[in-house]
Amino acid sequence: MRSELIIDLKKLDHNLEVIKTAAQNNPKIMAVIKDDAYGHGAVKVSQHLTSKVDWFCVATLEEGIELRNADIDNPILIYEVPDAERILQFKEHNLTATVSDLENFETLIPGINYQINFDTGMRRLGIAPTNVEQVLQKMTELKDNECVGVYTHFSSADEPDNERVKQQMNLFADVISKFPSSMFVHISNSGGIFHYGNTGSHLKGIRPGICLYGYSSGDTKISNLMPIMSWKSHIMQIRKVEKGEGIGYGHFWKAPTSGIVGTIPVGYGDGLPRLLSGKISFKINGKLLPQIGRISMDYCAVFSKDEQSFSVKDDVYLLDGEELTAKYWADEIDTIAYEITTQVHPKVKKTYLE
Ligand SMILES: *Cc1c(COP(=O)(O)O)cnc(C)c1O
Repeated sequence: MRSELIIDLKKLDHNLEVIKTAAQNNPKIMAVIKDDAYGHGAVKVSQHLTSKVDWFCVATLEEGIELRNADIDNPILIYEVPDAERILQFKEHNLTATVSDLENFETLIPGINYQINFDTGMRRLGIAPTNVEQVLQKMTELKDNECVGVYTHFSSADEPDNERVKQQMNLFADVISKFPSSMFVHISNSGGIFHYGNTGSHLKGIRPGICLYGYSSGDTKISNLMPIMSWKSHIMQIRKVEKGEGIGYGHFWKAPTSGIVGTIPVGYGDGLPRLLSGKISFKINGKLLPQIGRISMDYCAVFSKDEQSFSVKDDVYLLDGEELTAKYWADEIDTIAYEITTQVHPKVKKTYLE
C-alpha cells in the first residue's frame, strides 16, 4: 500500500458532542456527508453516525442511493434540484427531495416527501421569499406529497458578526412565520452553529458539515474541534545528496547542504496538491521535515541534513490531524480545508479507527 487515510471515528464523536454543545437549543442533527463525507468516506461515516444523528444531507441523488444501498435508514435530504427523468428513484429509495423552484412541485410524483429551500441571500438555489404565498398554495394542492421541512442556507456565516447573516435570519423568520409552527425548520451550517449559536426557537435542526470533520468553516478558529483525517505513507527510497544537487522535475529544489532525500509514494494523482510543492512539512519519527522539490504525479520527497533521521520503510505522516492539518495546507495555497479533504483521490485506501 502506497499510502492510507486514517479516519478517527472517536474524534468524530468528540466533534459531534462539541457541535451539540454549541447549538444552544437541542436541535435535530442533519449530518452533511455530501461528496463522500468531504472525502472521509460517506458509507463508513454514515454507518458510524446512524444512531447518533437524525438526518443525513447529501448533494446528489446518487449519493443518497449509495447510503440506502449501505442499509442506512435515516431520512436523507437531497440538496440538488430534482429532475423529472430520475424522480422515480426518490420514491424507490425513500429519499427526501428539495423543492428549490415553484416548478419543482410539478416534478414530484405521489409519495415523495420534500423540503423547501428558500433563497434568503445565498443566491445559488432556492425559492425567492416573495413567492411564499404561491408555495403555500402549492403545498395545499399537493395532497400526495408531504412537506417535511423548510430551510435556507447562509452565504457568510463563516465569520462572526456578519451583517448578511443577520439579514438572512430576519428574512427567513418572516418566511417561516407563514408556515405552521410545527414545521421542521433549519438554517445553520457550521458557521451558523458556532458563530451564531443556532439561536431562535423556530430553528429545530442544524446542518453541520465541515465541523464534523474537525475544521472551522472560516478563519476564526473554533477550539475543541479535532481534525479526524490523517494521511500516512512511508519512505520508499533514500539517496544521499551533496550541497547544490538538484532533485526532481526541473531540479526545482537544490540541496542547501549535504543530507538525505527520501522518496514518498504520494503525488498529485493521489490528491496532494502540486501547488504545495516546497511549502509544507511532513512528520517522520516524530520530527517535522520539509517536503522538497516539485510534487509529481505519484511521488514527492523530503529532505534531512541528518542522515540518521529516517530509513527506508519509515512511516511518514503527511497529515496527522494535529500539527499537520488540511487547514495548514489550505492556508499555504489560498484555499479552504474543504477543498483539501475532498480532493484526496478515492483510490487512497481508508482505515477507520473505531
Ligand atoms: C454544504 C452545506 C452545508 C454544510 O456546510 P458546512 O460549512 O460544511 O457546515 C449545509 N447546508 C447546505 C445547503 C450545504 O450545501
